Amino acid sequence: MQLQDLSVAGKRVLVRVDFNVPMDKEGHITDDSRIRASLPTIRYLLDNGAKVILMSHLGRPDGKVDLRYSLKSCEERLHQLLGRHDVTLLENLRFHKEEEEGNVAFAQELAKQGDCYVNDAFGTAHRKHASTYVIAQFFKEKAPGFLMEKEIAFLGEALLHPVHPFYAIIGGAKLSTKLGVLKTLVNKADALFIGGAMAYTFLRAAGQETGKSLVEESFLQEAATLLRTGRIHLPLDHVLSDGRLVKEIPPEGQGADIGPETVADWTKQLENAKTIFWNGPLGIFEDTRFSAGTKKIGQAITRGNAITIVGGGDSVAAIESQGLASKITHLSTGGGASLEYIEKGSLPGIDALK
Ligand code: ADP
Ligand code: MG
Repeated sequence: MQLQDLSVAGKRVLVRVDFNVPMDKEGHITDDSRIRASLPTIRYLLDNGAKVILMSHLGRPDGKVDLRYSLKSCEERLHQLLGRHDVTLLENLRFHKEEEEGNVAFAQELAKQGDCYVNDAFGTAHRKHASTYVIAQFFKEKAPGFLMEKEIAFLGEALLHPVHPFYAIIGGAKLSTKLGVLKTLVNKADALFIGGAMAYTFLRAAGQETGKSLVEESFLQEAATLLRTGRIHLPLDHVLSDGRLVKEIPPEGQGADIGPETVADWTKQLENAKTIFWNGPLGIFEDTRFSAGTKKIGQAITRGNAITIVGGGDSVAAIESQGLASKITHLSTGGGASLEYIEKGSLPGIDALK
């Protein structure tokens, strides 16, 4: 069922949103993009005569009422953005330990707030929490919101049945946290380009000297297995943490970014792409000395006509800090949820709506 299929006129619609916004020490919202992103669903419901009741979590109050994590300021910001005050936002769900426990009685209590249920919180759809999963069983009328629909369209359809050539660029900190998604992608993509810290586990598995670079010793076997597919491309040169540019890492060296030869090689190979998925920065991009690889590959993927999909907290931050966001087809709002959806092709919070 889609949002448009629900008959919402005159009904109370309970919507799970993701208002888990960043705040400063004084409790001021420093970035309201998540609230803005929920507006299309909320406006649609209001325009169609629904009474809208929203619920969300914020931070980690660990099951206790802690006013530093109150959603009051989010409600105020929402009312400003909407230009109306008739939308209710329940207080932080994680003030109750039952939320994260997925407590059925708690979910049933929440369910009494609405006649229909809409889930627009993709970022928590991989959790079996009371408000994201358990609650759905108490509704006949339920659907994903527009934000959730968009994630399903891009991470589900576009990546499960990709237009080829389909390339994946994977970087970031640890192979161990992304092994599942790598195993799925290696069977779907025509090639995988691996950078970031995890590249060193692969290079070591391929028998190369990696010096003091981050290597996850206990994942060398897994890395070797993935390498045998023949579809994995590794960096050809490196920027070391001391600034040196090398092709072979010396014993005292630590790889901090992919080098220019790698950028040139990958850029060339990515030229004919029809679909590109990117997760994970290719170097320690927070430090401008090691951000060139991530920046150049970011520019390269936005030059062609490929469908480009970027997921992951740091990856999205990197794209935004480079001003490339508007040139990416889809920037996923979920970190862990995006990767789990690509890996498994489903998420509890999405399945529960069916
Ligand atoms: P995402 O949030 O997009 O999934 P990750 O959290 O997996 O990405 O990884 C981001 C982190 O990886 C960044 O903090 C970045 O500094 C780090 N990183 C990338 N390349 C390296 C490297 N060569 N050495 C150490 N850390 C790295
Ligand atoms: Mg991260």
